Amino acid sequence: MAAGFRVTAALALLLLAAACAPRPARQAAPLPEPTQPPASSQWIGRDIIQAACLNDLAATGAKFELIAQAEAGKDGCTLQNGVRLIATGVELVRPAEMTCPLALRLMQFEKEVLLPEALRVFGQPLKQINHAGAFTCKRMTGNSSRISEHGHGRAIDIWGFVLADGRRVSVADHFRSQGREGQYLRGVNREACRFFAVVLGPNADAAHAKSFHWDIGPWNRCGS
Ligand SMILES: [Zn+2]
Repeated sequence: MAAGFRVTAALALLLLAAACAPRPARQAAPLPEPTQPPASSQWIGRDIIQAACLNDLAATGAKFELIAQAEAGKDGCTLQNGVRLIATGVELVRPAEMTCPLALRLMQFEKEVLLPEALRVFGQPLKQINHAGAFTCKRMTGNSSRISEHGHGRAIDIWGFVLADGRRVSVADHFRSQGREGQYLRGVNREACRFFAVVLGPNADAAHAKSFHWDIGPWNRCGS
């Protein structure tokens, strides 16, 4: 027992001495040569803006993953600074892929309009957002020569909501109803014009009779 203790103590002293001994100065490894310098200062600026957006998005509490640039980009469609939004402050019916700026705008809109309006109109919290996709490589409705803003991840289509008690609110069934559901839908789509560049709904055209289209530009139209 005593011998064992002595051995252990000696070992501990040795380790301590080794830890306290001055270390030989280590040569710093040479920095690798940059293989691909940034193409331009514009590239650097864009990168900083993208990082700032991701920081801001993380600060909202959104749950998201980054999308590798390589996953996008066919048929003229692009998704720059793309994220896969998994949950906002509430659940999403399924994850949605979009640019970071659209995700950020959606988070602001949810906080300032969707959540408080649900409490005001229904007296209960919003639980889920039902959407029909954001980034999708498709052409503009009514102008097939142009890529839709969906093709750049700057638009999202919303077809309904679910409240905490399970009540379902859908654009197709309730937009024109006189009840609370209609009041909520018409109210939030009207408010959407303050947050999004293009807002379309059943009042805009037949193509949006069942869902809202919200995008962040470059065009402007409030057709709620
Ligand atoms: Zn749309």
